Amino acid sequence: MTDTATRHTRLLIIGSGPAGYTAGVYASRAMLEPILVQGIQPGGQLTITTDVENWPGDATVMGPDLMVRMEAHAKEMGCEVISDHIMSLDLSKRPFTAAGDSGTTYTADAVILATGAQAKWLGLPSEEHFKGFGVSACATCDGFFYRGQEIVVVGGGNTAVEEALFLTNFASKVTLIHRRDSLRAEKIMQDRLFKNPKVEVLWNHAIDEVIGGDSPRGVEGVRARHVETGEITEIPCKGFFVAIGHAPATELVKDQLELHNGGYVKVEPGTTRTSIPGVFAAGDLTDHIYRQAVTSAGMGCMAALDAEKWLAEQEGEEVAEAGVYAAPKGDPTATPADAAE
Ligand code: FAD
Ligand code: NAP
Repeated sequence: MTDTATRHTRLLIIGSGPAGYTAGVYASRAMLEPILVQGIQPGGQLTITTDVENWPGDATVMGPDLMVRMEAHAKEMGCEVISDHIMSLDLSKRPFTAAGDSGTTYTADAVILATGAQAKWLGLPSEEHFKGFGVSACATCDGFFYRGQEIVVVGGGNTAVEEALFLTNFASKVTLIHRRDSLRAEKIMQDRLFKNPKVEVLWNHAIDEVIGGDSPRGVEGVRARHVETGEITEIPCKGFFVAIGHAPATELVKDQLELHNGGYVKVEPGTTRTSIPGVFAAGDLTDHIYRQAVTSAGMGCMAALDAEKWLAEQEGEEVAEAGVYAAPKGDPTATPADAAE
């Protein structure tokens, strides 16, 4: 059923990754009664991975489990978590307006953007042609389909190495193809990769084409080109996993907020304040350097504190404009009568 209600909130949090849920915890404890809209990936990127080994307090925790706990924590503190996806956002006037896919319109005095990042693709026509038919960007989602088969992974960061290692649970062989001669993944991950007998690394190669058939549609291999010599190598595989990084999910705000560093939302250094007062950004959406669960959560905390302070300032101004007495800062015992003297 379509819900066409309008909901007003002092604080709307868009996104349910570590940044969004942490903002939800802090904003709820500040009694802002926030609404958090989860989006199409409740729990965010960590729901498509397995073991997380760098979340403080847990030597190992499954990504999806961690996100279920974060959601429960935010709800426990009083955050209203809504299953909806924001289709458009108007930041040109206050209250800000967000249109939900459910038909609900959300109006908000302040907004925290925590829409994270999305997987990047190579942009090859053949990659597009075989998406869902052997081409994937999520090993935890699709690895199971390639039991006993050969798999190729492209990329050289933590995601690529993690995906390649995870895929060895199913595949007979995993070839990691990287465009340079060294990986940017953490050293501990590299060690695991190089020690795994099912993994082979093809250095200095770029993917030219995904090859396959159409009846039925499916991947048969990839054509890789040596970046210096141009020599072509064909590698047979049934699954091709693209793990070449993530781009910030700025669809809602790219024409409204200042962006930088290739499309990340710009915030005032040391804060989560964006170029529009009352709009705050946290997590991978604004972070082109660290992009970790713990840093995203940290920024979610900052955003809630920044929003709380900003809302208090706005509400203070409204009270002053209305001629209502407000106790002077530093003198909590003062009364309206003192002020009148
Ligand atoms: P995300 O987790 O990206 O969440 C974004 C949220 O925004 C989602 O809930 C989505 O539904 C929502 N959203 C987007 N658009 C809309 C919209 N229009 N309306 C409403 N909601 C919207 N980091 C680590 O520290 N340790 C790890 O082990 C680790 N492993 C990883 C493994 C993989 C495979 C990947 C891809 C990443 C991994 N990371 C890891 C990185 C980590 O997941 C991210 O840094 C972190 O999830 C970013 O959190 P976030 O809250 O900014 O956004
Ligand atoms: P990343 O660190 O940006 O790495 C992307 C990789 O893909 C790089 O090796 C890059 O090559 C390669 N690449 C980019 N574009 C390419 C193209 N068009 N063709 C071929 N190769 C291309 O991205 P990520 O690995 O997804 O990681 C994103 C963030 O999440 C990082 O901060 C990472 O630490 C974090 N993360 C953490 C964990 C963990 O802690 N266990 C796990 C996963 C992700 P170059 O090296 O040549 O640039």
